[in-house]
Amino acid sequence: MSAILGLRTAAAVTTAKLVAALSRRLGFGGGTALPGLVADAVVPRLATRLAARLGHGSVLITGTNGKTTTARLVRNVAQAAGYRPVHNHSGSNLMRGITACLIEATDARGQFPQPERRLGIFEVDEATLPEAAVALSPRVVAFTNLFRDQLDRYGEVDSVAALWRPAVASLPPTITVVLNADDPGVAGLADACRGSVLFYAVSDISCAVDQIEHAADARWCPSCGREYSYSAVFYGHVGQWVCPGCGRGRPAADIEATRVKQSPDQPLRLALATPSGQFDLSLPLMGLYNVYNALAAVSVAVALGVPVDAIREGVASFTAAFGRQERMTVRGREVHTILAKNPAGLNQVLRAISAEEGPKNLLFFLNDDIADGRDVSWIWDVDFEMLAGQAALLLASGRRAADMALRLKYADIDADPAIEEDTESALEKALALTPEGERLYVIPTYTAMLHVRKLLARWGQRPPFWEEG
Ligand SMILES: [Zn+2]
Repeated sequence: MSAILGLRTAAAVTTAKLVAALSRRLGFGGGTALPGLVADAVVPRLATRLAARLGHGSVLITGTNGKTTTARLVRNVAQAAGYRPVHNHSGSNLMRGITACLIEATDARGQFPQPERRLGIFEVDEATLPEAAVALSPRVVAFTNLFRDQLDRYGEVDSVAALWRPAVASLPPTITVVLNADDPGVAGLADACRGSVLFYAVSDISCAVDQIEHAADARWCPSCGREYSYSAVFYGHVGQWVCPGCGRGRPAADIEATRVKQSPDQPLRLALATPSGQFDLSLPLMGLYNVYNALAAVSVAVALGVPVDAIREGVASFTAAFGRQERMTVRGREVHTILAKNPAGLNQVLRAISAEEGPKNLLFFLNDDIADGRDVSWIWDVDFEMLAGQAALLLASGRRAADMALRLKYADIDADPAIEEDTESALEKALALTPEGERLYVIPTYTAMLHVRKLLARWGQRPPFWEEG
């Protein structure tokens, strides 16, 4: 029986590899999901069979924002520690994408080269987590945060929490769960955990903002219904929270950023306290949200028993994930592309931009495809007002350019924002209007990012994403 299954596994792997090669040859993109679908049709539960062959097991990373960056940080750290990661790096984070990624890392017989060094690092869509946790039998499951995102797909924040809770409760006690102590919706999952929990948090109060932002969700205690009170808010509803009704509060952190030093155009400097000791970390990214991503990644590394030197080396060697945050030089301008995904994420991006020196050249893209979210009303939850008086160039593009321009106009940032619906014309115009040697911020939603990235890659001579790494 198992010999037959072995043969069928090999057959499924071979078929899927052919599909991937064909898909790439025909220019369908990276071939990241299709082979997974095909393989699952040939041998159901192929992902389970392949994941069981990973010598170091798997890590799952989920949450609304930051999972791609966190997974990439974990991958770099794992590499620095001598593991050979198997990682769904192009962000194909449903089961078929994870299956495709496992297949790609194996040979024609479905075996991994150096299986004893293999660690699966999988970014997992929020709604896919329950299925992935069963299919992949992970060692560590990490949760970043829980925000309102793509309401069309998942409904309310509470429904995602309702999906996660039973998934966490069903994890065997041998699994370590990594939780963001500063996000009450994530921290509360600890109640359901049967195994060990590692909490991470920021404790440097100098990072706090004055008030809860528009995008704050999950501010009400699920036990007693009272609104949380905050002694410090770091972004959105993330901060030092306590329920005045029943006394539930932010748990003590195991991995803590005790000092965060942000300076323009410099890597972030963090002082960390962890069970593996205290150490400093240099993080070549901007924004407090990336401090949280680094904390999540460090926590995963601590759970895996990775030595401190490898953690520091891995994090310092980081370059941002495809499209999420990327700098490249195009026609003598430094183009900084940052994905706009939802109100909380975009508020953090704007905060980081407004902290940089000098007038800003800004190009926003707003599309309304399914992957962007069909309902664009979320832009009214974003605090564009923080850019007031800072814009040298303000251009709105994408299929919903007019909605974006209206929002920017109400934010009273500067003179009326210009509208240029067509992606290529908008990029051309923004590059032409940005003085040579200066920086242009391009802030697209997901589908616009794919198009923007393709154009910039052509103009700046960079390979498409599936050829990277
Ligand atoms: Zn309460």
